[in-house]
Amino acid sequence: MAEELLYEGKAKRIYASERADQVVMEFKDDATALNGQKRATIEEKGIINRAFTVRLFRYLESERIPTHLLAEIDERRLLVRRLTMIGLEVVVRNRVAGSLATRTGLAEGTVLDRPVVEFYLKDDALGDPLLNDDHIRVLGMADEETVLRMRQMALRINRLLEEFFAARALILVDFKLEFGRTPTQEDGGVVLADEITPDTCRLWDRTTFEKFDKDRFRRDLGGVIEGYREAWKRVQQ
Ligand code: ADP
Ligand code: UDP
Repeated sequence: MAEELLYEGKAKRIYASERADQVVMEFKDDATALNGQKRATIEEKGIINRAFTVRLFRYLESERIPTHLLAEIDERRLLVRRLTMIGLEVVVRNRVAGSLATRTGLAEGTVLDRPVVEFYLKDDALGDPLLNDDHIRVLGMADEETVLRMRQMALRINRLLEEFFAARALILVDFKLEFGRTPTQEDGGVVLADEITPDTCRLWDRTTFEKFDKDRFRRDLGGVIEGYREAWKRVQQ
């Protein structure tokens, strides 16, 4: 029986499942950058990204971070809790890169004294603009308590992931998270959703600073899937 497609995004598809409170998340090989202007199919990416997300979400769950992950279905699909998504992208940065380098003029790779948390509006038509706390309130995206909770969870996840990647000779430069709400108030009502993958993280080799992430695609550095494979190989250690 064909499952009902509920949503098709840039990198994943969401299908209905047998239960109303669960959905199936399928990881595609499609990649986009520069706000959708750059597109490609990177064979095998979806398989690596699904496996990567499972590895990291299971680790975070073991450290008592609530996530949407329920079960693995096959090499491209996961069963996850169906959440009401909070339409924000939460970025945590340990070093300067990407848009922070552009916005501040600081050199890429500069170590930040303390992690920086940023909120972006998840809206492709607007180019995912950076928001401050007042913007979030005025737009009615989330109340103060929810913003605080996302910030605290993002910082805790950052500490856990930094340590996890450091043990595998990788620097976690920055990453993006998405959160959703559960229908009930279990888990404090806010749950980590979506994915954590080389699409959504910057990961550099500890000594050579070689990039094993989507910047290989964004910047035409070559060896995109080889970079993803190397990151996945280390994450399995
Ligand atoms: P985009 O929408 O940015 O193109 P994707 O291709 O990754 O992104 O599509 C996945 C979509 O599923 C995103 O819109 C994301 O917010 C949403 N999503 C992630 N986790 C869940 C969940 N547990 N329940 C419902 N929607 C989710
Ligand atoms: N990121 C993401 N999705 C987005 C925007 C950013 O996963 O829509 C991730 C990106 O991979 C990086 C971090 O968030 O790890 C910070 O991205 P940045 O703001 O520097 O944007 P970029 O210049 O990469 O578009």
